[in-house]
Amino acid sequence: MKASQFFVSTLKEAPADAEVTSHKLMTRAGMIKKLGAGIYNYMPMGLRVIRKVENIVREEMNRAGAVELTMPVVQPAELWEESGRFSKMGPELLRLKDRHDRDFVMQPTSEEAITDIARQELRSYKQLPKNFYQIQTKFRDERRPRFGIMRGREFTMKDAYSFDRDQAAAKASYDVMRVAYRAIFDRFGLKYRAVAADSGAIGGDLSEEFQVIADTGEDALIYSTGSDYAANIELAEAVALIAARGAAKEALTKTPTPGKSTCADVATLLGLPLDRTVKSLVLATDELDDKGDVKKTTVWLLLLRGDHDMNEVKVGKIAGLKDGFRFATVGEIEDHFGCKPGYLGPIGLKKPVKVVSDRTVANMSDFVVGANELDFHLTGANWGRDFPEPDAVADIRNVVAGDPSPDGQGVLAIDRGIEVGHVFYLGTKYSKSMNATFLDETGKPQPFEMGCYGIGVTRIAAAAIEQNNDARGIIWPVALAPFTVVICPIGYDRNAEVKAAADKLHDELAAVGVDVMLDDRGERPGAMFADWELIGIPVRVVISDRGLKEGQLEVQGRREEKASTVALPDIVADVR
Ligand code: ATP
Ligand code: MG
Ligand code: MG
Ligand code: MG
Repeated sequence: MKASQFFVSTLKEAPADAEVTSHKLMTRAGMIKKLGAGIYNYMPMGLRVIRKVENIVREEMNRAGAVELTMPVVQPAELWEESGRFSKMGPELLRLKDRHDRDFVMQPTSEEAITDIARQELRSYKQLPKNFYQIQTKFRDERRPRFGIMRGREFTMKDAYSFDRDQAAAKASYDVMRVAYRAIFDRFGLKYRAVAADSGAIGGDLSEEFQVIADTGEDALIYSTGSDYAANIELAEAVALIAARGAAKEALTKTPTPGKSTCADVATLLGLPLDRTVKSLVLATDELDDKGDVKKTTVWLLLLRGDHDMNEVKVGKIAGLKDGFRFATVGEIEDHFGCKPGYLGPIGLKKPVKVVSDRTVANMSDFVVGANELDFHLTGANWGRDFPEPDAVADIRNVVAGDPSPDGQGVLAIDRGIEVGHVFYLGTKYSKSMNATFLDETGKPQPFEMGCYGIGVTRIAAAAIEQNNDARGIIWPVALAPFTVVICPIGYDRNAEVKAAADKLHDELAAVGVDVMLDDRGERPGAMFADWELIGIPVRVVISDRGLKEGQLEVQGRREEKASTVALPDIVADVR
């Protein structure tokens, strides 16, 4: 590729609204261009990076046996009414109407559409397992779109959905994806961590997030220095505190009396230290029917620490009783309170307290005001108005770092991370609500066991930059760079030998499959070098008249301090 044919457009200044490095650098390097809040053009230079991400994702998904299809961005609301999400999902779901006044949504993910396909196409157990994926535009009307394409409203996600005959098979499909995700993230060349995440409404332990490590990350991750233990913050808080899930389950199904038992009572029952980490915790207990399906959910609000006397504060019970124990999801809290989980204040408290839910701590600030369950909660509680916003992450950092890991191996440490992928066992949530069944060996219809697997394709480009940059600009890992090698000839427009050597090298590298860019714009060396350092091309080859006379070219890695000289005949082998 030659620069004159391509589109190179760099800026000296970052846009005023850019808070993080990746946003600044992507804009300055001419990779993205803002069209509206959270809505960006992917300019030619940026699109090349996105395509690299997509290709790696696509290759590894195919290798793992998933099959690609594409589902519409705009989807009829009827499907979303079947699953319940049309009314249940908050304003993140963009709803729109056509000329006949019919409702539609812009897909934030595509469980409904894929389940609709499955119920028509996958009729027999013989067709299972099946994993469908798409790499497609998503829209989420994020309350705070920010950080450029890191948290856009329109973005590209790879979303995959597995369909299986039973739980064991679904677990196997989930494991295939966990392995594939590791292969994908290894290939990106980024430092990342796979962390256990809360599996929310479904329960169990089949939810894992893939987090790119970066100081600017919105999430906090806890990991052990001596083992594989790693979890996202809200799960880590809980796991670190709750000695045994079994004990918790026992205690919760038997003992607390809403409005009577104190938080201290419950904490003692659960073996939770009161002086640590968690200020409040929303737990849910499930009552199962004969088939093992969830019949009823109770959401418990526990206060475990804070400026309140735990012996005074009563445990709030939020709805019916269930067997089993897990963390309540945002959706459940929404259901039970009829509003977004904000900051719920149990009876007896003057001030509302923060709820630890299945969302990241940082994301809690996205939630709107409190709850209104009679007798148990304060109404109209406002974050920032009724009580100050603590630095939750710093708070937890101070408390847990250096503590023993829950598995007894090593001590806990904390990283900040950017969530770039999420694998999740869904169970029969969508297949049951949408009546999606297949026929088993005995000819009986059974609901599909499902899993869903997302990767933030566009977010990865931004995350890569957060992790790899310096004062001069972006430093792309080779796998994601828009071009791997840039040839910078000095005097391309006026020195025939330099031009000939540059053209020749360009063609030779291109012929062996190197993504090579030749800067034929005739810019001054300083300006030319600054552009490509800003854009972050891993290898620069400088061709000068003097070098040519000595039979040498200058090669410089983007991370290296000094250039090295390479003999002309060795150059292709050296940089490819
Ligand atoms: P977050 O916690 O950052 O809001 P999420 O948990 O809501 O993300 P998922 O529903 O798990 O996101 O979607 C799968 C992936 O899509 C995420 O892991 C992330 O990489 C990406 N993603 C989600 N929201 C956005 C967004 N607004 N902009 C860019 N990428 C996103
Ligand atoms: Mg989100
Ligand atoms: Mg998340
Ligand atoms: Mg997620």
